[in-house]
Amino acid sequence: MILTNGEKIDLRSLLAEEITTLPFEYRYKNFNPGKGYADIKPVGDACLDGRITNNAGYIRLDAVLTLQYRTACARCAAELERTLHVPVERDIAIRGQLEDEDTDDYLFIDGEELDLEPLTVEEIYLGLPMRELCSEDCRGLCSKCGKNFNEGTCSCPEREPDPRLAILSKWSEKHSQQ
Ligand SMILES: [Zn+2]
Ligand SMILES: [Zn+2]
Repeated sequence: MILTNGEKIDLRSLLAEEITTLPFEYRYKNFNPGKGYADIKPVGDACLDGRITNNAGYIRLDAVLTLQYRTACARCAAELERTLHVPVERDIAIRGQLEDEDTDDYLFIDGEELDLEPLTVEEIYLGLPMRELCSEDCRGLCSKCGKNFNEGTCSCPEREPDPRLAILSKWSEKHSQQ
């Protein structure tokens, strides 16, 4: 079953235990990360692919979320293409059947349909990193001339020493002269 934005999974035959497994492919289109994620540019759809199973009333969703996106290295601004790949597992409960519904442990369904959009969006935000680096040891850019230190050095004067270190070095100079 392939679904997209606005389409819900019909769980009737699964809930009636006529089938025990319901595979699905959800294509969430036009995901817009919004402010705070200005550097994240999705490429294509976010995909949530998996299945829902009903094992004697124990209903569960197992899926994998993938989203390809372009972004920039937080230090050197190099363009990066990354893929978010997140396993998604949830127990499913029918609203009105649990004593305490004030819980994040379950994915609740109203009636006999499930909308995968809230789950997909939630998992994308949980999965997106706060910042990306082209590599762990990226050296970044010179703050004066913008030279990419991954490609070589520049001729800008060394950065001003930390004033606390300057005091310390004066102190040790004085003491070494005694
Ligand atoms: Zn970098
Ligand atoms: Zn420089």
